[in-house]
Amino acid sequence: MPAHVINETLLFDGDEEVLGRQLFDCVADLYPICRSITGDGVRETLARLGRIVPVQIHEVPSGTAVFDWTIPDEWNVHDACVKDARGERVIDFRSCNLHLVNYSVPFRGRMLLEELRSHLFALPDRPEWIPYRTSYYQKNWGFCLSQQQLDALPPGEYEVCIDASLKPGYLTYGELYLPGDSPEEVLISAHLCHPSLANDNLSGLTVAAYLARQLQSQPLNLSYRFLFIPATIGAIAWLARNESVLPKIRHGLVLASLGDPGPLTYKRSRRGDATIDRAAAHVLQQLGVHELFEFSPDGYDERQFCSPGFDLPVGRLSRTPYGRYPEYHTSADNLEFVRPAQLASALTACLKILSVIENNHTYLNQKPKGEPHLSKYNLYQSVVGAGSSPNFHAALRWLLNLSDGAHSLLDIAERSGIDFRDLVAAAKALLECGLLQESA
Ligand code: ZN
Repeated sequence: MPAHVINETLLFDGDEEVLGRQLFDCVADLYPICRSITGDGVRETLARLGRIVPVQIHEVPSGTAVFDWTIPDEWNVHDACVKDARGERVIDFRSCNLHLVNYSVPFRGRMLLEELRSHLFALPDRPEWIPYRTSYYQKNWGFCLSQQQLDALPPGEYEVCIDASLKPGYLTYGELYLPGDSPEEVLISAHLCHPSLANDNLSGLTVAAYLARQLQSQPLNLSYRFLFIPATIGAIAWLARNESVLPKIRHGLVLASLGDPGPLTYKRSRRGDATIDRAAAHVLQQLGVHELFEFSPDGYDERQFCSPGFDLPVGRLSRTPYGRYPEYHTSADNLEFVRPAQLASALTACLKILSVIENNHTYLNQKPKGEPHLSKYNLYQSVVGAGSSPNFHAALRWLLNLSDGAHSLLDIAERSGIDFRDLVAAAKALLECGLLQESA
């Protein structure tokens, strides 16, 4: 028996339309919650993700040193608004949580419009949209509003009320470990610190949670660790608390922005040639329209996982990269911007990538002198037989030729251009008739 079993079952074989609806419903459920890098919105989000998979909650106290950073005070908002002279709520956190600059300090006061203006943020180029702004590490307050709203504010006195708390508490994150046959790990990470933004934040969280649910019910060669964490500070906190785990991480994916109308894109790890980089490139090439990017020290939590002190083999799967779509970090990144089918196909792409790393074994041809007589092993018939992939025969020949102990299945997929799935099916057939054996 080979040491590693072929794991074909990672492929999603259900109804993608049903899956898309489930993913979208999850995004819609989480959308109204006001999240930040700390606070009850994070806890509520993790509690709801916990209905999909058993997420373990971790809380790191404010003031804890994590590498060069310190866990900040915890932020929670009860209410926030700007009232005009008649007492009307002209900017209202209750109608959209993007209206309040995230991490605004508590504040109450009256001021004239001229003074208030320095605390107001709008997008002149997109006059109907509300921008998303944060002030995590500078004690400040502010409101975001559409340019149309701003233009409509008459001069005069306004009352500002930010009923929030910023005091010692915790940074909260979620973690889920799925053990496989091998202690070698795959890290899957998604950020959960944005308030009502659908693509940036909720698409990645939702795809990650449903990916975990799919893996949970299947036999796994590798072990999987899912992180649902506030961006940057959450990733740094997790890394600081888990240095002993890091040597086990052999592959990793940051999942972010997977629901927009754009094609799938993959950003390579800092190493550039990690197995995950090659697996993702192969799968995206097989899927058709896609884009591959080299590593750069920007983006999401790949910045932390690929910092030089760790240099983990972690890439990022997205659709349109952050900052390259006008809806990014605005109120237009809403439930209309995210498509069920895009969420579903992102999840199936993840499964295809994981299927490559699960099955990337190296084999030895047991009859390497001349080609084996395939019909003797009933392999030729199965080529002609119903249901076989037209690539099956080609896959058999490539496998027999390159299975010299020096080429893995991914090497063979790259060199032949044959879909990894077809190679797995052919390898299984060759193993069953004894023409291949796993290389020691
Ligand atoms: Zn963002």
